[in-house]
Amino acid sequence: MLVLEKIYENYKADGNRVAYESQGCSLTYKELWEQSDRLALLILERFAGASGKALGESTSEGEEETHKPIVVFGHKKPEMLVSFLACAKAGHPYCPVDTSMPESRIKDILQAVGTHIVLATEPLDAPEFQVVYVDAALEKGAMQAGKSVQAHAVPTRGTVSHEQWLRPEDVFYIIFTSGSTGKPKGVKITCENLSRFTDWSEGFFEKGARVMNQAPFSFDLSVMDTYTSMTRGCSLYGLPKEMQKECGETLEFIQNKEIQYMVSTPSFVNMLLADQNFNEKAFPNLRQFLFCGEKLTEETVKRIYQRFPNVRVINTYGPTESTVAVTSVEITKEMADSGDDIPIGVVKPGSQIVIEDEEIIICGDTVSPGYFKDEEKTRNAFFEKDGTRYYKTGDKGYFKGDMLYYIGRKDNQIKLHGYRIELGDIEANLMGINGITEAVVLPKVKDGAIRSLTAFVVRSADESDLTFQEAKAIKSKLSEKLPAYMIPKKIRAISEMPRNINGKADRKKLEQLL
Ligand code: AMP
Repeated sequence: MLVLEKIYENYKADGNRVAYESQGCSLTYKELWEQSDRLALLILERFAGASGKALGESTSEGEEETHKPIVVFGHKKPEMLVSFLACAKAGHPYCPVDTSMPESRIKDILQAVGTHIVLATEPLDAPEFQVVYVDAALEKGAMQAGKSVQAHAVPTRGTVSHEQWLRPEDVFYIIFTSGSTGKPKGVKITCENLSRFTDWSEGFFEKGARVMNQAPFSFDLSVMDTYTSMTRGCSLYGLPKEMQKECGETLEFIQNKEIQYMVSTPSFVNMLLADQNFNEKAFPNLRQFLFCGEKLTEETVKRIYQRFPNVRVINTYGPTESTVAVTSVEITKEMADSGDDIPIGVVKPGSQIVIEDEEIIICGDTVSPGYFKDEEKTRNAFFEKDGTRYYKTGDKGYFKGDMLYYIGRKDNQIKLHGYRIELGDIEANLMGINGITEAVVLPKVKDGAIRSLTAFVVRSADESDLTFQEAKAIKSKLSEKLPAYMIPKKIRAISEMPRNINGKADRKKLEQLL
């Protein structure tokens, strides 16, 4: 069954169940289904010509043109999910963009996608694009293009013909992730990829359970909770980013919403564990911690079992390029106490992993068709052999029997507080700042985990170290281009970049300066 069909079954079975709630607004399965139908009709009616499918534009971009993606901009409002499903029902991929991105990165993505339409659930200043405010469109039947409201009747009822829905091979969503050249790259995930992922991930939740969403929708970790919850008939509770800044507010949220299933990075739970009140007595509803996205340490598992002796801890592993995760394992207390490495799991049905020169290479039904409009990057990371498509993860690992273990990365991609970052992305943006001729960014590691980033820069006009004010000015310039989690904590100037015998920046030498 495909994702939309699964959600439809849940709508038919119990339309009054809450599908999603955030910031005081909730949406039942019935509302989700009906509103997404109405919005899909709007997309089809108003934008069929502009967005290409109905006109069947024939261009050199082929499939990417005939199914033009639609950017969905916002944070955690219920209309985000309505928009995602509306795009799928109208036969278009969507590309989620979170409000936490700086304006110039948002524009980079809008430009890269070449979108005709942006469905917005938060204010967006992008006059060169057709911005449709979803709540206005649905409630008042009006559409805003830029800031001016154009009257446009949105059908108050009606369903979209299934003929219009995305087909299995069509791209369902495009998620942008840090790219080593300084511009984000878009990972395409098809309807089939997502459907086969949820076939497997549905096993993680009990039907009808209360699930927490922590990650913004622009990160593929959110696909784990969002789509698994919707296809499993669960109720999803979105924790807004403002509340995540305060541990106390997050804990209150988990308590008030009676969350049973947490989906997050280990970093996030580590932050919560810093509060002694985060324990089974105060949170009796919590049943499971589901982790993905970064290394789960035995310390974290031990601390969880000390506070929550009766929960289940699940570790999953995978890259955005293979639809969130491809391995899973329940980590028991005994495993954490054994002193052995924490495994990342056994491979899900429908996927296979081979190890070549230590590198984890994935093939199977959730491997992406490639990067959006980037043949070169696609060729470098994906390959085909005997009709099977493979993705080279850049991760190093090994098997013990059928259990996979993670070693680390082969390249300069890192995870900081759960966020995927190409150090080259920060370096390229640093070198875009006037006066900086060279830049190298290094992670600072403590107790096996990356704690912060330090940037070393060479300046054309000045060999002295940076004053506090100068470092602050560089950070401020950088934050016009990069999200906050990518800004190095420290910026240091060096008079000359140390080099290895190949003439490349000598990262090992710089590490000694950390
Ligand atoms: P993302 O595409 O943001 O999901 O990041 C994927 C990368 O995160 C993988 O290639 C790994 O480097 C890392 N990763 C994901 N899950 C795990 C895990 N359970 N343990 C260690 N690293 C992980």
